[in-house]
Parts: sequence; structure tokens; C-alpha cells
Amino acid sequence: MRKVIRRKSTQREIVLEAVRSDAHMTAREIFDEVSRISSMSFGTVYRNLQVLEVQGEIARVDSDANATRYERKKQLHWHLYCRKCGGVFDFPESSSVSFDQDAEARSGFLIEERVVMYRGLCVQCRGTLDDQDHEDME
Ligand SMILES: [Zn+2]
Ligand SMILES: [Zn+2]
Repeated sequence: MRKVIRRKSTQREIVLEAVRSDAHMTAREIFDEVSRISSMSFGTVYRNLQVLEVQGEIARVDSDANATRYERKKQLHWHLYCRKCGGVFDFPESSSVSFDQDAEARSGFLIEERVVMYRGLCVQCRGTLDDQDHEDME
């Protein structure tokens, strides 16, 4: 799939185009993508990501301590983070209204959003873990 970048695109549009809708990309990955068509500095790309996040065009996904990832804003969903390969996967939101109400009642907090991140092993890493168990232990 080729993306057509208009010649008159602003820096912000270029950065937004680089954020894929089917992935969770680090700022570095987005910068690499932008670098193919623009000479923007990493700092400029990063600043534009922050603006796009405030504008609601993209969402930040805090998966692990090492990297902040970004994705296109889409329907509310949860994330699964694989501690072995570092993959971030989408998972449809499942309704837990009673859980939210309970939390609100007990804390007195006005709850506006629930962010869920499951951590563990993805299907692939789960399958290979038994074979490579000893290699991973070091
Ligand atoms: Zn994995
Ligand atoms: Zn996602």
C-alpha cells in the first residue's frame, strides 16, 4: 500500500500520515518513516506527535518503560503487551460498567476513562517459550 503525500502537506500532516493505523509505532519508527520523504529532525517529529496527540488524532500507548508508542485514534480498545517480543496487540474493549461504578463509588473519583494494558506472552512467544526456556533464563 503506497501512501500519496501531497506536495503541500504540512509537517503535521506528514507525521500523521506516517502513523500507521494497524500498528503501534515508537517515535523512532515514525521518524524513520517520515525520513523517507522529509528532512524533518527527530525533535520536530516528536513535537508534532505531541500536538497530534493533544488534537486527538493519535493516541499514546504506554506499553513498556523503554518506549512510548503511538497509534491512530480509533474505536476504544485495550492492549496486550508481550514481554518477550515487545509486540503490542489490540483487544476489543469489553464492558465492565459495574467495575467502573464500583471504583467511582469507592474512590469518589469522577472516572472519565479506563486504560487497560495486559502484559504477558503473545501466542507465538507462548508457543516457543518451552523450547527456549534455558536461553531466556540467563
Ligand atoms: Zn511475543
Ligand atoms: Zn491499539
